[in-house]
Amino acid sequence: MTTFQRIVLASRPTGEATLENFRLETVEVPELKDGEVLVRNEYLTVDPYMRSLMNEGKSYMPPVQLNATMAGGTVGEVVASKNPTFDTSEVPLQAYLGVVGMPGMTAWYGLNQIMVPKPGETVVVSAASGAVGSVVGQLAKLKGCRVAGIAGGKEKCDYVVNELGFDACVDYKAGKLAADLAAATPDGIDAVFENVGGPVLDASLARMNPFGRIAVCGLIAGYNGEPVPVNNFSAVLVMRLTMRGFIVGEHMEFWPQGLNELAMLVACGKLKYRETIAQDLANAPEAFLGLLKGKNFGKQLVKLTR
Ligand code: NDP
Repeated sequence: MTTFQRIVLASRPTGEATLENFRLETVEVPELKDGEVLVRNEYLTVDPYMRSLMNEGKSYMPPVQLNATMAGGTVGEVVASKNPTFDTSEVPLQAYLGVVGMPGMTAWYGLNQIMVPKPGETVVVSAASGAVGSVVGQLAKLKGCRVAGIAGGKEKCDYVVNELGFDACVDYKAGKLAADLAAATPDGIDAVFENVGGPVLDASLARMNPFGRIAVCGLIAGYNGEPVPVNNFSAVLVMRLTMRGFIVGEHMEFWPQGLNELAMLVACGKLKYRETIAQDLANAPEAFLGLLKGKNFGKQLVKLTR
């Protein structure tokens, strides 16, 4: 392997990101230094947070510089090593980018450290069929909660209920979100895992029970343009809610425990997941932009060809 391919940020988007913002390059593999390994990557993950790194402004991570690599998580095979440490496992390789990786850990942290639901409580999860949301709902079911998902379209909602075992799933694109969420949460809502924001979060806020908890994980409805407003904020006061945002990468101390639990649940078939796999690095920008429009169904990955 003397060269490799990478996607760089060619220009910054104004409003919606487009394919023109990216460029595919072929560059030389640098010489291996002590402590380094050379990996032939097999899968790349594209994730919603990458959109905010394309902007110049302040966020919780520094922006990607123009003409720099749009870095993302990968899994692959070590083909040369100047480092004695390596890892083996029974879990499928690409699951380390999803259910047993950063998205799974995001679900685990928000549920166990912020929402802390008790058996019998009602939990609501938005972007419920996705990489993070699907794990949140299944973990909450294992804790004995009533779980309602919110997702876009009948196919995703059917999957969330029939395959993942949620008690209900509301199609926010069907045009009667408030009424459908009320039917899905007859006892109100005790804890929310929020991935979307805007009208989806507003619908949950309107159904909160006193002392409810809201883990603010993502606000994807506003990533590709102007932030989407939330109108029912008064529920935080009236219902004495706790609302907490978090960034999973700032809580690495929980990762060994969380990933171990997630891997065990996957291995014994109690945690299901789904993937949408694009082929070839050149198609990574398109796969990423599709993620921001709900074109993915489950964890969006990119299979890197050799
Ligand atoms: P998903 O696999 O859930 O894919 C994104 C999904 O979001 C889409 O499939 C789509 O589902 C939904 N979506 C996209 N645009 C909109 C919109 N305008 N309105 C409503 N729904 C929309 O992605 P992830 O599971 O990787 O990420 C889910 C969320 O978690 C994101 O907000 C992400 O930023 C956040 N996150 C936060 C982390 C943290 O540390 N705080 C770490 C990792 C992720 P549908 O078709 O159902 O609309």
